[in-house]
Amino acid sequence: MSLNETYDPDNIFAKIVRGDMACVQLYETDDILAFMDVFPQSRGHCLVIHKKADATNLFDIDASALAGLAGAVQKVATAVKTGLKPDGVRIAQFNGAPAGQTVFHLHFHIIPIYEGEALGVHAAGGPAPAETLEPIAAAIRAAL
Ligand code: 5GP
Repeated sequence: MSLNETYDPDNIFAKIVRGDMACVQLYETDDILAFMDVFPQSRGHCLVIHKKADATNLFDIDASALAGLAGAVQKVATAVKTGLKPDGVRIAQFNGAPAGQTVFHLHFHIIPIYEGEALGVHAAGGPAPAETLEPIAAAIRAAL
């Protein structure tokens, strides 16, 4: 998908926002949703999206909405840091399929890094069952 592609309201994350698809939720406001990545690259890998911006990528959102999203990324990343005590935290965001984007609804990855543990492959492998993600999510939620 090119960088100038029109937003598809039937993408997976739009379905999650509408409640048409399940997610293990972490944090929600009128504008923001944070939830666990179902193909986690590490323990606590989660995603933060804007619910209303209808933005495919970083170039498709106005600056004030992006600022709100960035604030939410910081808030959830702080809870990941406090709740899971990783050794590092990677924030990632991909624009366009050639850059690695696979879901075309703007999102930020929060990926905890644990020393000595290799990251899983991006957007690959089997989906993690909700029962596995839920206790990790609970630790993050408790720190929000
Ligand atoms: P991207 O490749 O677009 O930067 O990241 C998309 C992310 O969404 C990937 O890390 C992938 O694991 C995750 N993902 C794909 N499908 C689903 C889904 O149905 N639910 C959740 N929670 N995450 C998903």
